[in-house]
Amino acid sequence: MSNVSASKAVETTLESIRKRTPAYGQLADRFGQVFLAVAGLRDDLMKKGVSVPDIDPGRIAAGAPVLAGIDMTKWGVNLTDSAKVLLPILSEVLELDEKTQKSLTGHLATPDIVSGLAQARIEGDWKHFENTSVCPEIVSSDTLLYISEIVSAPVLCAIVETLGESLSSLTWEHGHCPVCGSSPSISHLSPKEVTDLDQLVGGGGKKFLHCSLCGHDWRFQRNACPSCGNDDNETREVFYVDNTKYERIEACHKCGKYLLNIDLRECEPRPNLDAIQLGLIHLDIYAHENKLSPITSTLWNTLE
Ligand SMILES: [Zn+2]
Ligand SMILES: [Zn+2]
Repeated sequence: MSNVSASKAVETTLESIRKRTPAYGQLADRFGQVFLAVAGLRDDLMKKGVSVPDIDPGRIAAGAPVLAGIDMTKWGVNLTDSAKVLLPILSEVLELDEKTQKSLTGHLATPDIVSGLAQARIEGDWKHFENTSVCPEIVSSDTLLYISEIVSAPVLCAIVETLGESLSSLTWEHGHCPVCGSSPSISHLSPKEVTDLDQLVGGGGKKFLHCSLCGHDWRFQRNACPSCGNDDNETREVFYVDNTKYERIEACHKCGKYLLNIDLRECEPRPNLDAIQLGLIHLDIYAHENKLSPITSTLWNTLE
């Protein structure tokens, strides 16, 4: 994805969703503006440059994600810049009233506060959202968590993109992200690899999990549940609808979780893996009807 701007990929993805399923148009408009803004900020940061953390191979081998325990204050200003752009859009999408919006704007303009929230999210310190969070009487800690995730996304994506090769060479077999520790929001089978001269050098089809927070894609074994590690074929199942086999639900009956999977060998151009999920809601609905729950909850896959 590094050669293509993230904004361009989001735009094309939303456009193809609208064309294919007009019924998703409204949803694509509503959440699409968030994805577009996140991608735009990420593209700007890539141009400006963002500082990156050191990767400690010993810690990685011990199962600690790159950003765990890292002081996030060095990205404080990047995060407040992101909040400035995203907060007005999020306020509209989440239908926040003016008072809430105003108090959040003031709060998220402070680098230490925004970086503190990002760090708490990465370290799974949910209490931080309840205790030290803004005006809990106005905005719920869940909403604050969501806002903080979206605000952190462009900065984390730019970090991941900048680290590039040094991340893809890591050995990491877990079902959570090696960079930020979050669970995946979707998985994909890699596209065919083609050189500049249009020569096919690889058939693709390797399985990757896509991080729900920082957008990193990491290789994962094809026949195991990312949530509980179950690799027994008898208790895992694949569903697809309307004979669209390249978009599917991979379910685990041992833990009751599912993760959507998309085969990128069938997708040209390569879609944005966050925005594409808005066009797969029929699969989420099917999974719910079958009493399965998503590995990662999003605002749209938990809609009743
Ligand atoms: Zn991540
Ligand atoms: Zn499982």
